Amino acid sequence: MNKSLSILLIGILVATVFSSCQQQEKNTTTETTILKETKSKKVKNVIFLIGDGMGLSQVSASQYYNDGTPNFERFSVIGLSKTSSSSDVITDSAAGATALASGIKSYNGAVGVTPDTLAVETIIEQISPKGISTGVISTSAITHATPACFYAHVKSRRMEEEIAQFLVNSEVDFFAGGGLKFFNEREDGKDLLKLLEENNFEVQREKLPNKTSKKKQAILLSDKGMPTMLEGRGDFLPEATQLAIDYLSKNEEGFFLMVEGSQIDWGGHANDADYLITELLDFDKTLGVALDFAKQDGETLVIVTADHETGGFTLASDDGDYNKIKPVFSTDGHSGTMVPVFAEGPGSELFGGIYENTSIYDKIKSFFIE
Ligand code: MG
Ligand code: ZN
Repeated sequence: MNKSLSILLIGILVATVFSSCQQQEKNTTTETTILKETKSKKVKNVIFLIGDGMGLSQVSASQYYNDGTPNFERFSVIGLSKTSSSSDVITDSAAGATALASGIKSYNGAVGVTPDTLAVETIIEQISPKGISTGVISTSAITHATPACFYAHVKSRRMEEEIAQFLVNSEVDFFAGGGLKFFNEREDGKDLLKLLEENNFEVQREKLPNKTSKKKQAILLSDKGMPTMLEGRGDFLPEATQLAIDYLSKNEEGFFLMVEGSQIDWGGHANDADYLITELLDFDKTLGVALDFAKQDGETLVIVTADHETGGFTLASDDGDYNKIKPVFSTDGHSGTMVPVFAEGPGSELFGGIYENTSIYDKIKSFFIE
């Protein structure tokens, strides 16, 4: 190659690299501007609702089995979340919730720990020191995989007595669900209810109170999971959510509340469409409580998603009759389909698109931590 051609080629190369750097810088600047614009509409509170095992067919059931218009239709931004874990294409609820609560991919069964079983901070642990109030509600035991990932760090989801111990010492200000026996019928004989009271919790075991005192709230209404809707659980989930909002919204600094419709997943595992759909409709009703508060508050972001789909559930036709729906299942386990994400309120515009479940954590964190 002659010398002048080489110089020409180098010149072109330098020019190309320079212009692509400029382009990149420009892109970054645009993204920063978008983020700042989003942040200028203040997100003070986040209500994060997880329908365990709730894929798009489960959500679609709210169209066909609801009397009125489903609350799902009140969301203006919709995205899709990819749910694989670090160990498996198909995640379990522990790895799924660890991704949502701590922003990392870990192995199936992991509760708030890395693939090397090291504790990883949860969103609740990160924002509590900033004066944000926090709450966790579920229709499973409060020590079950999904809620546990928001406050505990254990190598296996089965360690529910250890998980309960984490909750006693956690930054969580309000919790409600089942799981009483992991607090008061323990192999180590400890009475965690007493320890909760020593840690400034007011413990409720009989029923949901109508209102709360200023004390932290520990509401444990059944030994393991809460009763199913078919068994007559009633309005526990929407009412506990309202109670938590009333309690947490007294904090001028803001709050983060996680609410889980735990048993949508259990209906899927049981391949029981009535079970699944009644749990789904209860979850939809709960969305209404969150959305009503957010609408009048104006500084509250409501996000709804799932950890994964359960049951390979679909709304097929009944015997070829396209006017009749017959819910069917293709597995009694989880499936690998993407799950929907719904967002409404300030900051909701960040939730459109297709992204990893860990990115939901990143977005939530960005509202509380610069
Ligand atoms: Mg769960
Ligand atoms: Zn499951």
